[in-house]
Amino acid sequence: MILSTTFAGQDVAVFGLGRTGISTYRSLLAGGASVHAWDDNAKTRERAKAEGLELVDLHDADWSTFAALSLAPGVPLTHPEPHWTVKQAAAAGIEVIGDVEIFCRERQAHCPDAPFVAITGTNGKSTTTALIAHMITSAGKNAQMGGNIGVPILDLESAAVDTIHVIEMSSYQIDLTPTLQPTVGVLLNLSPDHIDRHGTFEHYASVKARLLKYAGLSVIGVDDDPTRGLVQDARATGSSPITVSHTDTVADFCCANGLLKHGGANCADINGIVSLRGSHNAQNAAAAAAVATHLGLSDEEIAFGLRRFPGLPHRMEEVGRLGGAIFINDSKATNADSTSNALASFEDGIYWILGGLAKEGGIAGLREYFPRIAKAYLIGEAAEVFAQTLEGVVEHEHCGTLEVAIKTAAAEVGNAAASQPVVLLSPACASFDQFPSFEARGDAFRNQVLSIPGLQARSEAEA
Ligand code: ADP
Repeated sequence: MILSTTFAGQDVAVFGLGRTGISTYRSLLAGGASVHAWDDNAKTRERAKAEGLELVDLHDADWSTFAALSLAPGVPLTHPEPHWTVKQAAAAGIEVIGDVEIFCRERQAHCPDAPFVAITGTNGKSTTTALIAHMITSAGKNAQMGGNIGVPILDLESAAVDTIHVIEMSSYQIDLTPTLQPTVGVLLNLSPDHIDRHGTFEHYASVKARLLKYAGLSVIGVDDDPTRGLVQDARATGSSPITVSHTDTVADFCCANGLLKHGGANCADINGIVSLRGSHNAQNAAAAAAVATHLGLSDEEIAFGLRRFPGLPHRMEEVGRLGGAIFINDSKATNADSTSNALASFEDGIYWILGGLAKEGGIAGLREYFPRIAKAYLIGEAAEVFAQTLEGVVEHEHCGTLEVAIKTAAAEVGNAAASQPVVLLSPACASFDQFPSFEARGDAFRNQVLSIPGLQARSEAEA
């Protein structure tokens, strides 16, 4: 745990007592602050008390005594409207910050040269963060990974010159980190998301771009218009961001036909790396290679880290093989955009399991990939609507549940004409109609697939 000493002797309000809030409370307390913690939700308060936290109702507090309000990232700062604690803080003239800001102040006070990589983007944050941390550790160096992935930042080891903090940041976290000054800032891509919390795409994009504002080095994906615009703006002000792309051969780091190039020269081959299938992962790999190069890793170390990357669960996770067929868990694909990445990764022979709680627009945007689908297996509430889109174009069957869909697809994939067919769970839907989370849905898929007689689990296949 990191001790937050920069608030020693001061009173700090902490609101929102999920994992981040609890971690912030402990870190501030251990660093010598008086912590006033609260949550609106009675169950969350009970859980926090059970973890040993002492709570104070912030409704009754004298806000003028606080040095700061530390807010959990899930609590609205600006939209749809500021949370009541944010209004109280504004009325009392105290700053509103988050746990990453506390880390930044600690690093600035005690070890400003400690390497700190911050990663954001609309998609690919977790994969790229995990890949960078994996490359660093496979090269024998110490990486501390956390933030929006895994553990809250203040649960990690303290900043140190021989320790590289690799931190995933959501837009909410960036909003709460006014002195964010990473050694390397990575912005992968920008597309409309979380507009409910940021009001407009322009505001969302400007929050994301702030991660780069004071970065020692900026690494920017240039595969969409908004990020290309940021590169132009940066160059106009005399700075030189490193550009990365999954195709564009003029980017500093690019990936053409699976060959990762740096300054025109090959630095690694990602063809055949199952955890990095798809052009979206080529972008992630190019960004990770750019960061690793800046941190002093050699091309050999980068290639080694890429080859050994196990991938993250529920994101194009290869679960196993049955004869020539592969089974892929892409449960994290909760919208059509994410599912398009999965469908684009296979030429043909896709036995596609989809459905759940549909998002606006459904799967109409995926039409260009329909010729690749051998058959679709529909589950959950979206089945009826999706069937209408598939009607007359893609063979499909109403399976109701994931369990039935897996059974049916596994029985039929053996008759596939394609040389390497794939049973792909990429639902293009939220999971909440049938599962508590996309993780639970993906775990259910993995468990059932692993119990299919004759299936070779990925770990065995690699042995
Ligand atoms: P995040 O942490 O930003 O949600 P993840 O790394 O967890 O991103 O990936 C989630 C999904 O986003 C993946 O299953 C994939 O469909 C899609 N994705 C991953 N990387 C990218 C990328 N660079 N560009 C576009 N989509 C991506």
